[in-house]
Amino acid sequence: SFTPLASDFYGFESQLTETEREALAGLRHYLETEVKPLVNDHWDRAEFPREILPGFHRQPVFGMQWEETRPFENSAVYRGWAALELARVDASISTYVGVQNGLAMGAIAVTGSAEQRAEWLPKLASGELIGAFGLTEPLSGSDSAQGLRTVATRDGDEWVITGQKRWIGNATFSDVTIIWAKDAADGQVKGFIVPTSTPGYTATKIERKQALRIVQNADIVLDGVRVPESLRLANANSFRDTAAVLRLTRAEVAWAAVGVAVGAYEAALAYATERIQFGKPIAAHQLIQQHLANMMGNITASIAMCTRVSQMLDEGTQKDEHAALAKAFVTSRMRETVAWARETMGGNGIVLDYDVTRFFNDAEALYSYEGTREMNTLIVGRALTGKAAFV
Ligand code: FAD
Repeated sequence: SFTPLASDFYGFESQLTETEREALAGLRHYLETEVKPLVNDHWDRAEFPREILPGFHRQPVFGMQWEETRPFENSAVYRGWAALELARVDASISTYVGVQNGLAMGAIAVTGSAEQRAEWLPKLASGELIGAFGLTEPLSGSDSAQGLRTVATRDGDEWVITGQKRWIGNATFSDVTIIWAKDAADGQVKGFIVPTSTPGYTATKIERKQALRIVQNADIVLDGVRVPESLRLANANSFRDTAAVLRLTRAEVAWAAVGVAVGAYEAALAYATERIQFGKPIAAHQLIQQHLANMMGNITASIAMCTRVSQMLDEGTQKDEHAALAKAFVTSRMRETVAWARETMGGNGIVLDYDVTRFFNDAEALYSYEGTREMNTLIVGRALTGKAAFV
């Protein structure tokens, strides 16, 4: 049964329904018993625990937003809390969900036809298929609205796609990857559901990554990959449609960033109550209490911001700049928080067995993916001034 999270200082979880709270309690229990014991060893070896996927996909986090796949009606605030719970245990596992559920399924749900939704969403929600989302390229990161080099050329009832992608999460073992490419005819960005067994498609794992080591990222080469017109996302007509997918996931990355901060704070608090220096637990020293209070301030302000931005999604008032501000602000607070947690633990703060160094490193990836702090800041700046500073 549901017990409020001690790190939810102002009791924001009280805004969830009884059904949502129970689902969250089950998810928390699953993550703490089945996932938490695995993460440090898998992080060390940079391995993804694929063996957990059948059980993991039964958790109430996949397809929760879409009528076709959701097991019960739920709010964006519930889905945010689920992202927080995932990242509180491990940011790589939360990233796996963000890619599968938010980006791959989100692209199909937001820009696919009714037939495409019916065909693909249930298989992705159940984990029968694993999805990835290929937007970023070796030469185009922040500027992917204009800078994509990957080209799709119409050839009768087929499209021929040629180009490269970089950083694509889950893509070392995905069954389908959403590929964003410029239409050779009109220059607009279009999306394609590309089965990874298609000739001309290769994905290679990015090695030696020092953040989110559990989640697998790949470089992809598309060499004349042919897909039928039926696999072109029917309602993706320009980058504006891609951005509609990213807005949804950006707000959830903000929630995940709170989860990273909470995970690090909880590990630091537990350590501070046990570690004795100068004859008393370090938690009884004033400056350590200041670290803990600072962390709690960041966490509480971040949950408040995320709660409101999710409510705006359900109310239909959330715009790009609202999700962008949450992502930029909350990931910045996360970065401060994991640094205070690390400092609270002294030398052990850099030893994997004590968890905090994993959160500390992983925070760097959340800070940069789904739009860097700079790009999200510029989206907010454009809304505030009416002037785009990045084009
Ligand atoms: P760049 O765009 O080269 O930026 C470098 C720096 O310059 C940044 O600080 C940036 O903010 C700054 N900058 C750039 N332009 C401006 C400007 N106009 N004004 C001010 N500053 C500017 N992509 C996918 O498509 N699918 C995925 O699944 C995926 N997963 C990822 C997972 C991880 C772990 C990581 C690290 C990345 C992932 N990405 C993915 C890519 C991610 O979205 C990009 O890394 C991100 O958009 C930044 O692009 P970049 O790394 O090329 O940096």
